[in-house]
Amino acid sequence: MKIAILGAGASGLYSAILIKRSLPKAEVTVYEKENKLGKKLYATGNGHCNVLNSSLSASDYNDPAFMAKAIRAYPASTLMDTLRSWGVALKEDEELVYPLSYSAESYVHYLLTYAESLGVRFVSPIKITDYQHTQEGYFLWGEQDKVGPFDVFIVACGGKSAPRLGSDGSFVPALEKHGYHIVSFQPGLTPLKLKEDVHLLVGARHHALVKAYRESKLIHQEEGEVLYKKDGISGIAIFNIESALYNVPHVVSPYLEVDLFPEYAEEMLIKQLEAAKTKNPSCYLSSLLSEPFVHVLERNMPKANSQEIAHHLKHLVYHVTGTYGFEDSQVSLGGVAVEVVTDHLESRHEKGLYFTGEILNIAGFCGGFNLSWALLSALLVNENLMTDFGRKAKFI
Ligand SMILES: Cc1cc2nc3c(=O)[nH]c(=O)nc-3n(C[C@H](O)[C@H](O)[C@H](O)COP(=O)(O)OP(=O)(O)OC[C@H]3O[C@@H](n4cnc5c(N)ncnc54)[C@H](O)[C@@H]3O)c2cc1C
Repeated sequence: MKIAILGAGASGLYSAILIKRSLPKAEVTVYEKENKLGKKLYATGNGHCNVLNSSLSASDYNDPAFMAKAIRAYPASTLMDTLRSWGVALKEDEELVYPLSYSAESYVHYLLTYAESLGVRFVSPIKITDYQHTQEGYFLWGEQDKVGPFDVFIVACGGKSAPRLGSDGSFVPALEKHGYHIVSFQPGLTPLKLKEDVHLLVGARHHALVKAYRESKLIHQEEGEVLYKKDGISGIAIFNIESALYNVPHVVSPYLEVDLFPEYAEEMLIKQLEAAKTKNPSCYLSSLLSEPFVHVLERNMPKANSQEIAHHLKHLVYHVTGTYGFEDSQVSLGGVAVEVVTDHLESRHEKGLYFTGEILNIAGFCGGFNLSWALLSALLVNENLMTDFGRKAKFI
């Protein structure tokens, strides 16, 4: 059996390893347009690779109904066991799971050498621009040549997020040409642009509770570090809020309410400000806030008393004008509509063609949910191939 995988990203590598482990005689070739295999994986989790989330739940994804079924088949414990069965040692930081090396570079190196030792063949750089489905099987078209035929074709080309790391949507026109319904792509897990002028706060970080509203209705709330940019706001809490807001079509006038002191009730914060003011009246704001915030408060609210300042710091309101683009996003919303695939991610109209990872319209929050999906989707495909090719399904 000959299998072609388009893309040496997370889900392509996972698929290749799973297939060679369960069907050792299969000839598995991975085609990748970048020189560097697994390029995006190196950048994940700030270089540490948050490889899984140990409390996977369907509600952490844009399509909970679809994910509920998938997670029932492959819960987080099975995903962890799968990686361990390949020799990957893991460490847990609450629900965030990392390779024990805490190094994305080592993790990619381990996966690539393991795949090669199993007999996976990598061909790069080659950009696949189209394919042909004939009676002989699938042929893949590079810019000059075609390769094939293959019995199985796995499309693992990613979405459109962070194109500098490989996934740029270059295979999407081919999928559209072959009649696949593509839900339009949008940047997910990306900073938000704000109407208010925040440029004086650029670089300032603060722990905060952020609530997102649309037409006065609370859509989502997150607590975590926020980071100010010249015309917007970033940080994991903001990434998740962005994905929650923009997963709903036709977002109308969203706004954020940011509480910089969620651990303090307003009364407590007033007391804290008053106590610092008695001790050091000329500089009391610095007892609570980093200098960019102090500077902005002194500039914008020079005569404010402690009550007004406390209220302001617990109710900063920002109007969202849009999101940063794909370049700054960690995942894309949109992609191949899940309605066109079976529960095992096989195309409903082309037997032997599968989709894994971010090219499908599945996106999760920050916290290992997207790499969990990359592995889970590869497991679903592998299970089907094993059944199709006469082996009793054995997942790990
Ligand atoms: C900076 C950053 C940090 C992240 N951190 C985390 C994290 O810690 N945890 C987490 O769960 N998720 C994280 N993510 C998200 C996660 O990396 C992705 O969701 C995941 O890599 C998607 O896997 P994939 O296999 O679908 O696609 P990708 O990993 O994007 O791989 C697709 C591959 O296909 C190749 N390709 C595309 N088109 C073609 C073509 N036409 N011909 C040939 N090859 C092609 C690409 O070059 C690429 O190598 C992060 C994302 C970014 C950008």
